[in-house]
Amino acid sequence: MKVQKTYLNKLYEKAEQVMDLYKKFDKRIELIRPSLPACPYGCRDCCLTDVENIEASILEFFPLVIKWHKENVLVQKYEEYKAATESSLCVFLQPDHTLLPQGGCTIYEFRPLVCRLFGSSALLKKRQLDYLACKKLKSQSFDTAMLPIANDFNDKLITIDPYLAVKKYPINEALKKALEYVLSYDYFFRATAS
Ligand code: SF4
Repeated sequence: MKVQKTYLNKLYEKAEQVMDLYKKFDKRIELIRPSLPACPYGCRDCCLTDVENIEASILEFFPLVIKWHKENVLVQKYEEYKAATESSLCVFLQPDHTLLPQGGCTIYEFRPLVCRLFGSSALLKKRQLDYLACKKLKSQSFDTAMLPIANDFNDKLITIDPYLAVKKYPINEALKKALEYVLSYDYFFRATAS
């Protein structure tokens, strides 16, 4: 029982480490935001794409899933999202502009790393910086050298837990797998505790 409780604590620690990484990234962005190309008000085009185009790892959903675990709503959330992989759009997207005028993410604070990097970072490829963004943002000129390097943040994520961070899945599948992963430890802990 003690072993399982310790492992659950480890999952909580990993979620905190991921959230710290997200906060570091957000802080970097806040500093350069005035110089970055801005998304048109209410635009959600980058989320309005097939889930196959947005890939995340299981670990990227840990802050959200562990928050649900703390709130004791994990089973309820699993019931809500277990069919997530049948949806071709991200299950957290609110496509209706009138219901959520500023962007369309309903879990904005807990969105995965991939969603934070898009539009706000550059991929380093063969010593060249490639701005990770849509055509609208890419058409605006600015100094891309100021952008955080996406590779660095992905590497930092991998150091938290390579097993849970390296493999990427379509975003809804990553959510489902993260829910199943934490639930399996939760069930095991409860079974051994009773
Ligand atoms: S989690 Fe939020 S930001 Fe990421 S694709 Fe879904 S709706 Fe968009």
